Amino acid sequence: MSQHTKTLSVYRNWQKKLVEWKADLSHLIYPNTCLICSAETSNKNIQICHLCENDLHYTQFEKFQDASKLDKLFWGRIKVEATYSLLYFEKEISTQQILHGIKYQNKKNLALEMGRRIGVNILKTARFKEVDCLIPIPLHAKKAYQRGYNQSQLLAEGITQTSNIPCNEKLLKRIKHSESQTKKGRFKRWENVQNTFTLDLTQLNNYQHIALVDDVVTTGSTLEVCVREIQTHYPELKISIITLAIAK
Ligand SMILES: [Zn+2]
Repeated sequence: MSQHTKTLSVYRNWQKKLVEWKADLSHLIYPNTCLICSAETSNKNIQICHLCENDLHYTQFEKFQDASKLDKLFWGRIKVEATYSLLYFEKEISTQQILHGIKYQNKKNLALEMGRRIGVNILKTARFKEVDCLIPIPLHAKKAYQRGYNQSQLLAEGITQTSNIPCNEKLLKRIKHSESQTKKGRFKRWENVQNTFTLDLTQLNNYQHIALVDDVVTTGSTLEVCVREIQTHYPELKISIITLAIAK
C-alpha cells in the first residue's frame, strides 16, 4: 500500500467516524427525532414521524392468501417455502430514504426498527412459524469494513427482537467482491453474482427451515444464487425469504 493510499484510507476512516459522531451527538441533543427524516417527534416512543409513516407503502403481504409478487418472482427459478417483504420500494417515497439511510448513512437504529416491524408481521402468518433461524445476506468483507456494519444483519437482529427467531450470520459467506449491481441488466447481474457465496457447513446446526434476510429485492438474482448454493448441499432444507422492500 503506497503512502498516498494509506493517508487517503486514514482520512476516509476519520471522515466516517465524524459522520457517526455527528449522528450520535444529534441524538443526544434531540433525543426524540424521526429515524427517517430526523425531524423532532413529540413523543419519545414514536420512532418514525407521522409524515414519514404516512408515506410508507406497506405490502400487507402478511394478509395475503394467494401468491404475492415476491412469491411469483421466484416461480420457475428456485423452490422457496415462504416469502415476505414489508414495504414497496419506489423512488421519491420514504422507502427509498430508508434504504439509503440504512445503507449509506449509518442509520443502524432505523434498520433495527424496520426489522422489529417485520418480526411482528411475520408472526401474523403461519408461514414462518417453523423457521429455525434467520440468515442475513452477507456483505463482502471489504464492504462490511468500509461501512462498519451489514444492514441485512441489523434487519435480522431487529426481526429476532420481536419474533424470537434466532439469527446466524456465520452460515453464509461472500467470497468474491461483486461490482455494484445497480447499473446492470438482469443477465449481467446473474453472471455477476455466480460463485459469490459459500457455506460454513459447521454452522448448519440441524436446521430444518431457514429464512434468508436481505434489504431490497429487485430481480432476485442474489437471493436465487444463495438459495441454489444452500440447496446444492442440503436439498431437504426448507428456505424462506424475507426482505425489507420489494421493487414495485
Ligand atoms: Zn420523519
